[in-house]
Formats: sequence, C-alpha cells, structure tokens
Amino acid sequence: MQDVIVIGGGPSGLMAAIAAADHGAKVLLLDKGDKLGRKLAISGGGRCNVTNRMELQELINHIPGNGRFMHSPFSVFNNENIISFFEGLGIALKEEDRGRMFPVSDKATTVVETLLKKVRQLGVQIRTNTAVKTIHYKEDTVSSVILQNGEKLDTQAIIVATGGKSVPHTGSTGDAYPWAEKAGHTITELYPTEVPITSNESFIRKKQLQGLSLRDIELSVISPKGKTIKTHDGDMIFTHFGISGPAALRCSQYVVKALKKFKTDSIEIQLDLFPNRPAEDIFQELINKMKVDPKKALKNVLKGFVPERFLLFLFNHLLIDSNTTCSNVSHETLRSITTSCKAFTFQVNGTLSIEKAFVTGGGVSVKEIEPKKMHSKKKHGLYFCGEVLDIHGYTGGYNITCAFSTGYTAGKAAAEQVTHILN
Ligand SMILES: Cc1cc2nc3c(=O)[nH]c(=O)nc-3n(C[C@H](O)[C@H](O)[C@H](O)COP(=O)(O)OP(=O)(O)OC[C@H]3O[C@@H](n4cnc5c(N)ncnc54)[C@H](O)[C@@H]3O)c2cc1C
Repeated sequence: MQDVIVIGGGPSGLMAAIAAADHGAKVLLLDKGDKLGRKLAISGGGRCNVTNRMELQELINHIPGNGRFMHSPFSVFNNENIISFFEGLGIALKEEDRGRMFPVSDKATTVVETLLKKVRQLGVQIRTNTAVKTIHYKEDTVSSVILQNGEKLDTQAIIVATGGKSVPHTGSTGDAYPWAEKAGHTITELYPTEVPITSNESFIRKKQLQGLSLRDIELSVISPKGKTIKTHDGDMIFTHFGISGPAALRCSQYVVKALKKFKTDSIEIQLDLFPNRPAEDIFQELINKMKVDPKKALKNVLKGFVPERFLLFLFNHLLIDSNTTCSNVSHETLRSITTSCKAFTFQVNGTLSIEKAFVTGGGVSVKEIEPKKMHSKKKHGLYFCGEVLDIHGYTGGYNITCAFSTGYTAGKAAAEQVTHILN
C-alpha cells in the first residue's frame, strides 16, 4: 500500500508528489495521459511562465479568484520558494515585464523535465495512461482510489490534482468534481476565465479590425447602469470573433459575471487608447495639429497619431471625410475623434467556451479546505491542490504559482499525516 496517492501530474500534482516524497512518504503518482505536465508544457506560449516575482500582497491582488485564501499556502511555499526550488535544481530563471519569471532556456520543457527528474530522484512511483474513475471513502476517511480498469488501490492519503476543465486535450476534463461532491464538497459554478471575448458588433463581424494589435491601452467593463466594473491595462488584439490579448483576457471573467448578474445578452466594453493622458490634452493636440498645416488633408496630418487602421476605421465609423483639409475640420469633429480615442465603446456578448479558456473559474469551494494543509474539511486523508479548486489568477504566472504553492502544501501535509510528524 502507498502512503500517498497523487491523482494528476500537472504542476500541482508534480509538486505535491515532490513535497510528499521529500517529507518521507511513499508516493504513487497517477495520470491518465501518456505524459506528465502536458498543460505546463504549452503554458506561457511554450516558454512556461513559471511564477511571478511580485511581492506577496501584489501577488494576491493578481489572483481574483479567492486570492485571500492563498495567504496560508503562500506561508508554506510562495513565489520566492518556487524560484529557489528551480534555481536549486540548476534551472536559472529570468524576470520579464510585470514580474513574470521564465526559464532562461525559454523552453517549458526545461521546467517539466526538471520536475520529472526530481520526482524520479525521490523515488515516486509513476503510472501514466492510468485514469482514475473514482475515490472510495470509508465513513469519514479516504480508503481507496478506483481506476478505470477496475483496479483498487488502498491508501491513507489522496491528493486530488486533476486541474480544471479547460483545454481538455491536456487531460483536464473535470473528472474530479463528482469525487469531491461524493465526499460532501461544494463545487462552485464553473466558468471560463482568461478567455477571449466575443462580440456581435458589425465591425467585428465584418472583420474590419481583425488582426489589429493595440499596445498599452486600457479596457473597461461597463455595467448596464454605466458604472465601471473593472479596468485593465496592457495590450489587446481584435480578432475575427471579438477581442483577445492580455488586457482582454483579464477583463473576460468580469464580462462573464456581468452578463449573468445583469441578466443581459450584451455588456459594454470601453477602450482607452491613451490611458495616461486626459481627454482635454488629446483634444488640444488635435487642435494644434490642425493649425500646423491647414491646407493638408486630415488623414495625412493624423498619420501616426493612432495606428493607421484604427484611424481609418474611426473616420468611417464617425462619418468623417478624411480628405477634408485641416482648416475645415470643426472642433466638434476633433471632439468626436478625441472621445473615440479615450472611450471607444462597443458591445460584447460573451466569451469563448470553458474548453478554450486558459483557466477554469470555480471549482471545489475553498471554504471547505484547511488552507495551511489543503486538507478537506469533509474527509480525513483527502487533499486538493491546483486548478480543481475555486482559485484562479490572471495570466502572468499566477495560476502556476497557485498550483505549485497548493501542491507543495498538500504534499507536505499529506506526508506529515502518514508519517505522524507533528508540525
Ligand atoms: C495554453 C495555456 C497557457 C497557460 N499559460 C499560463 C501562464 O502563462 N501562466 C499561468 O500562471 N498559468 C497559465 N496557464 C494555466 C496553468 O497552466 C494551469 O492553471 C495549471 O496547469 C493548472 O495546474 P494543475 O496541476 O492544477 O492542473 P493541470 O495542469 O490541468 O493537470 C491536471 C492533470 O491531471 C490529470 N488528470 C485529470 N483527470 C484525471 C483522472 N481521472 N485520472 C488521472 N489523471 C487525471 C491530467 O491528465 C493532467 O495531467 C495556461 C493554461 C493554458 C491552457
């Protein structure tokens, strides 16, 4: 009999297996895929954004899905511990914008291979192509893991690290939610987060801006009452179905929640191309531009003011004749250009599916988990870690950080349970 069985070999399960074995437990790691760390290998654009170097409170601020719960797991294993862990294994990391940490090799496989090497070194038994069907409980305690092939594996401690429901070809297909419910856990509503946003606006349907990237803009989600629900800055891109890119991904969960909360089919998004400049400043710049060469056509004078495709789109959208000479451009026209650059609004009607999302929102309720151990409050010997939980962060390394942190915490606690070592 194994001391600890870890179900799922993503970042949370691999780190749980490492921590459990390192703390003296005999560990069996099961995964239904033919390889471990499949999602990790495609994360961060194939470079694996392994963690984020922000200080702890900032880190928590970037975890909109139950970030406060992470105080305790971070007290056991946090971003700096993740960095030391990899550096201790000879993997140098580098910091990029917004605190994002990547392996110097720029290859996610470096991270996956390092974790696998450590898992093997610690003597963890690994079984791939081994799908778990369910967990059996005996009264208030876990008793065994039942495999799809009918095999029964008895154990004292089970760590569920099966991930969410997003990108199912990596193995994350939401298998564990029924096992958790069977133990008496609540599964909070699942929804896509960090996902591209869809829009039915005619300029989107006509693909007028498809492929246009905008840098350092600000996107806001606006309630039907006109209140700003959330604003995020960064880059974005118009796609054939709506918008994507970091700022759009960060706004996506607020779109999902607002559509539901206000029981509406569409919600407004506001785009600010000049987040660091007041509207009046933009307006004055436009007036000055008109004065420099009054005989020139408006479209020539405004070249480079905003990306050209957006400018031509605005002329069309605002019914402005772009060939008008500057001396004939009214202040009213300049005001409308200013407003469209500072607060271009359009309706969005949803997001791509949970399967196409980077991250799954919702999951096993954190109210039923002891945060210092990741232990279930419902069944003895049951632990949860990673995206299966109702915890999610923005893209930028926060989800993998949560997976490593909760994984380590669960693994350590499970080993302490089975080896009877007191904290
Ligand atoms: C394209 C992409 C890019 C991403 N980029 C980033 C990023 O840059 N930064 C960031 O922080 N996050 C990123 N994420 C999110 C991050 O990868 C996940 O949050 C993280 O992998 C979750 O880890 P996990 O261990 O909880 O689950 P997963 O990585 O999903 O692993 C779950 C494992 O459980 C196994 N499993 C499931 N069911 C069973 C079963 N019944 N029996 C046996 N095994 C089972 C699966 O095969 C899988 O190996 C990205 C996600 C995607 C899809």
